[in-house]
Amino acid sequence: MPDVNAHSVDAVSVKSDNSLEPLTTLRLGGKASTLAVVSETRELVDTVRGCGGSAEPVLILAGGSNVVIGDDGFPGTVVLLRTRGVREIARRADEVVLRVAAGEPWDGFVADVVQRGLSGVECLSGIPGSAGATPIQNVGAYGQEVAETIVAVHVYDRETDRVVEMPAAECGFAYRTSVFKHSARWVVLEVDFQLTAAAESVPIRYAELARRLGVAVGDRVPLDQARDTVLKLRAGKGMVLDRDDPDTWSVGSFFTNPVLDADAWDGLRGRVGADGAEPPSWPAGDGAVKVPAAWLIERAGFHKGYAGDGVAISTKHTLALTNRGTGTTGALLALAREIRDGVHDRFGVLLHPEPVLVNCAL
Ligand SMILES: Cc1cc2nc3c(=O)[nH]c(=O)nc-3n(C[C@H](O)[C@H](O)[C@H](O)COP(=O)(O)OP(=O)(O)OC[C@H]3O[C@@H](n4cnc5c(N)ncnc54)[C@H](O)[C@@H]3O)c2cc1C
Repeated sequence: MPDVNAHSVDAVSVKSDNSLEPLTTLRLGGKASTLAVVSETRELVDTVRGCGGSAEPVLILAGGSNVVIGDDGFPGTVVLLRTRGVREIARRADEVVLRVAAGEPWDGFVADVVQRGLSGVECLSGIPGSAGATPIQNVGAYGQEVAETIVAVHVYDRETDRVVEMPAAECGFAYRTSVFKHSARWVVLEVDFQLTAAAESVPIRYAELARRLGVAVGDRVPLDQARDTVLKLRAGKGMVLDRDDPDTWSVGSFFTNPVLDADAWDGLRGRVGADGAEPPSWPAGDGAVKVPAAWLIERAGFHKGYAGDGVAISTKHTLALTNRGTGTTGALLALAREIRDGVHDRFGVLLHPEPVLVNCAL
């Protein structure tokens, strides 16, 4: 199994010319005006504070696995986050609260808690990047989201120049988003996760995972079995970083799954036509439904391996746009635009990008 953190959070290869490309999983992006590597939480606050109020451009970069950085780079200070540390801060009956430094490699943390017999994040195995970035888009996979285990996020607030604790209820967690996403106001310093001492996983909610485990949805399985099976499923889709496999040189899913209200859902079904297969969907609350972006993309004519200029849809996963080694951010975004517009023309549904676009636009 490839080391999911090998490319990014652990192995820092900072070039003297401030190139950002080796610091992202897409291997794309120009240069930063200034690049500062921080390994202590206090240093992180001081560095960001030193950049002035929230108007001054600062980019916090950790694993670089959810950013698309423009070919012109970043006209400001990039703070490369390499803080480390996990400590237990509370234990009540079976519940344990762990405070995790923002720069801690996420999958190393998941492996460690699974090994220690703590459940709550096992289905989030194999996701690249840092623990501190998980609240930014409420990281989720295989029926689990970090919003289910995060109890508080400790942030530096650039607007008030204060370090504050934000309880989960203030974080605005929703599907692949939070108050932190697309905001320059907060720097996540540490995250508190509440996990449960248990030999078994939380109930498996994702049908594909349950099938692979040979259990029913709602069943529990040994923690390490849940982790291993998720890692295998992810690897088969190129969703585990592998420095030798360009199918993994991506930001994971490039588009979120669209959430449609009742009218939009009726409109989509009308466009598919009576002879077409009904699009798969899941209830998303208040009468809305979530539709898989991959289904729409494939039926709009964009198949695995569909290529642009040095970039392509992964040969393993329709939702992953990849750099084949000679791509540019411009080419990646051109491919993304072609797919977005093709889906819109065919189905009337507008796809939105999941990663944060830095100094570039779709
Ligand atoms: C192969 C692959 C598979 C993936 N699979 C999944 C998946 O299953 N589910 C999922 O949800 N995501 C997935 N992702 C996306 C990505 O791994 C996650 O979003 C991850 O949490 C990003 O972490 P990072 O440290 O790399 O963040 P970065 O890319 O460094 O940063 C992402 C954004 O968060 C901001 N940010 C990062 N750290 C901080 C901080 N401490 N304070 C303030 N802002 C911060 C950055 O400024 C940027 O805007 C995948 C990516 C890849 C490449």
